[in-house]
Amino acid sequence: MQKPAVFLDRDGILNALVFDDACGVMGPPLDVEHVVLLRDAAELVRALNERGYLVLVVTSQPALAQGRLSVMKLDLIHGRLRMLLARAGARVDGFFFCPHDPRARYVPGASVRPELVTGCRCAKPSPGLILQAAGVHRVELRRSFMLCRDLRDVRAGRSATVDTILLTKGSMTDLEAPPELRPGHVAVDASAVVHVIDSLREAMMNE
Ligand SMILES: [Zn+2]
Repeated sequence: MQKPAVFLDRDGILNALVFDDACGVMGPPLDVEHVVLLRDAAELVRALNERGYLVLVVTSQPALAQGRLSVMKLDLIHGRLRMLLARAGARVDGFFFCPHDPRARYVPGASVRPELVTGCRCAKPSPGLILQAAGVHRVELRRSFMLCRDLRDVRAGRSATVDTILLTKGSMTDLEAPPELRPGHVAVDASAVVHVIDSLREAMMNE
């Protein structure tokens, strides 16, 4: 039987960003000991679990192409995230990642993996990763959501024909986006996300 899913990015939604020494900006953790669960993350995932949604992480990890992260290390990072979530009674059903980066050669400290230095159809704003995850988990897209951190996520979600919720601290007036980038809904925090989903579920049941 098909199930609805909530697709979400990993960095900045489940785990905190950390300072990336090589690039001088905040980025994803590249070591398992740098994985810190964000406040509200477990609560959000647990609420989605309880409502019968598959929780599927879709994330770009260009450090793989840059040779700054191995798939084995990434597995450890995801294992740690699963363990931290499990302690709080929450479960991610699958991790899907894009390892590509067409600009990997320009990243300081990179020792590139040439086969991954390429454009691709999995990285957002393409819907590739979402559709891949949906295929593996037999997701019913019509009842599914993309929880978005930015307008790239919104475009990916819309291209994959799922409803979109933009998680933003800004107000609606910040969103002067063209129609194809406009999110279906906006939420300021995890409990607002759950509230949006509950309202829509109720409306669907009354259809
Ligand atoms: Zn890719």
